Amino acid sequence: MKNDKQVPFKLTPQRMAILKYLDGNKEHPSAEDIFKGVSKKFPTMSFATVYNTLEVLKKRGQIAELNFDPFKKRFDPNPEPHHHIICLGCQKILDVNKKFAIDPPQMEGGKFEIIGSHIEFYGFCSKCKDKT
Ligand SMILES: [Zn+2]
Ligand SMILES: [Zn+2]
Repeated sequence: MKNDKQVPFKLTPQRMAILKYLDGNKEHPSAEDIFKGVSKKFPTMSFATVYNTLEVLKKRGQIAELNFDPFKKRFDPNPEPHHHIICLGCQKILDVNKKFAIDPPQMEGGKFEIIGSHIEFYGFCSKCKDKT
């Protein structure tokens, strides 16, 4: 992930509310979820503010973006590399902090510099499994 702490970030009360919402949040919320959560306290907050703030935080490497659902980006306040397990029923995303021995492929004669990897496990959580 590209880390660019140089991207300027002015800390406004609205942005602080977004950071507070994300702090320690393990739900991997979407921009809509964050907007809903924060606009309770800041009714004047626009969705564009939430979206733009998330973009800046992403550029600064403070949050990660998860793209497993192309229609609904989810955000991860934990930018440290970790894997995910995803429920296809309720779209719940859980962190997997286990390390896996991955033998990275040698591409372009070993000249391709691999800087990270991400594993997504799919399935059905206990609640969703019972429904089927
Ligand atoms: Zn589920
Ligand atoms: Zn995560």
